[in-house]
Amino acid sequence: MKRIFSILLIIGLIIAGGFIFFTNNSPENEPEVVKHVEAKDLDREMIIDIESGMTFSDICALAGIDHGDMMEMVTASEDVYDLTKVRVGRKIKFYFDRETDNFTKLIYPIDTEEELFISPQEIDEEIELAEDEEIPNKFLAERKEITYDVIVKTAKGTINSSLYESAMEQEIDIRAIIDLAEIFSWTIDFGVGIREGDTYSFIYEERYRDGEYVMPGKIIAAKFVNDGRNVEGYYFSEGEDEDGNVADGYFAPDGESLQKIFLKNPVSFKYISSGYTTGPRYIAKFSAYTSSHRAIDYVAAIGTPVRSVGDGTVTSAGWNSSGYGNLIKVRHNETFSTNYAHLSKIYVSAGQHVSQGEVIGSVGSTGYSTGPHLHYEMVKNGTKINPLTIELPSGKAIGEDKMEEFGQVVAKWQGQLN
Ligand SMILES: [Zn+2]
Repeated sequence: MKRIFSILLIIGLIIAGGFIFFTNNSPENEPEVVKHVEAKDLDREMIIDIESGMTFSDICALAGIDHGDMMEMVTASEDVYDLTKVRVGRKIKFYFDRETDNFTKLIYPIDTEEELFISPQEIDEEIELAEDEEIPNKFLAERKEITYDVIVKTAKGTINSSLYESAMEQEIDIRAIIDLAEIFSWTIDFGVGIREGDTYSFIYEERYRDGEYVMPGKIIAAKFVNDGRNVEGYYFSEGEDEDGNVADGYFAPDGESLQKIFLKNPVSFKYISSGYTTGPRYIAKFSAYTSSHRAIDYVAAIGTPVRSVGDGTVTSAGWNSSGYGNLIKVRHNETFSTNYAHLSKIYVSAGQHVSQGEVIGSVGSTGYSTGPHLHYEMVKNGTKINPLTIELPSGKAIGEDKMEEFGQVVAKWQGQLN
């Protein structure tokens, strides 16, 4: 009965929302689900909410598991999950046979993707153990991937004040909006760059379990029109690389990564005269020590073009009287900004949007400068950092051999975004 109800609920959702529903397993030929329901019906279920200060030992005591078995469970799961670190707020489920009251199964949610299963394991008592062999554990512990039913949904909105408020009006799960902002975080500045009238649309998965909504899944495709600029991103996975890491991410229709890395250098230079230091440094021309040099100095001829290392908004451009001379500051996103000092010329003005690689000024020797060079600073969350050693997303474009496959992904979803 319960199963029929959940199927009806899902059908209802499809009709109500006009959603496309797809799942790998239709409920009719899904042995896993059937087994699960049967086990539930046969076994007595006991759910314990893990409260602050509760240990796994306390939880087992509540469930009526004796100390010896509890210790065996901890040992059995050693290699898959550390049960001494169960998390407050999670629900742990115990199952017992209705007739014998024997423990049959424990399920603990590790994260949104996996669960820990512990069940008694059948031990062949006839078997003879070699001398150095350990007695097998009473229990078997395994990590199992959680399988969700997935509904693909499309959401659209226009921004009047903020993306967050627009999402609330549209009743979009805020977790999906956070993921959306993350996808565009290198191309759109959600802190200061959002304009009234900006629009967005995105296609994303919603995850259901036993007919109940759990959480948003992955975003498949997204489009944002920011200040008249159209930005699109499509999820694509190129499979595993040599190290076994999944190479995936969000890409523009031309295959360029949306997780843009910064240009390695903002200028073509002869050499770096001063690297990034956090200790004192003596400057002969001014007969003085500076406390540190949290920047990179690139020596280059006066007039050499200076480029913005990433997309962003110019926050200030002009004369700085505290030594920087002609200075441009570019804000790239909520995390990063870069500063370009001692310029001979400035080609941009505050508030202007600049693209990665765009020429914004030229090398000079204005302010406290010992000779023509670009003094370049990178700021992360308000702190100057070394731009040459910072870790950034890969930013790699889709490989040429995968472009045809990616083109099909774009073709499949692009119409629905518009
Ligand atoms: Zn410098």
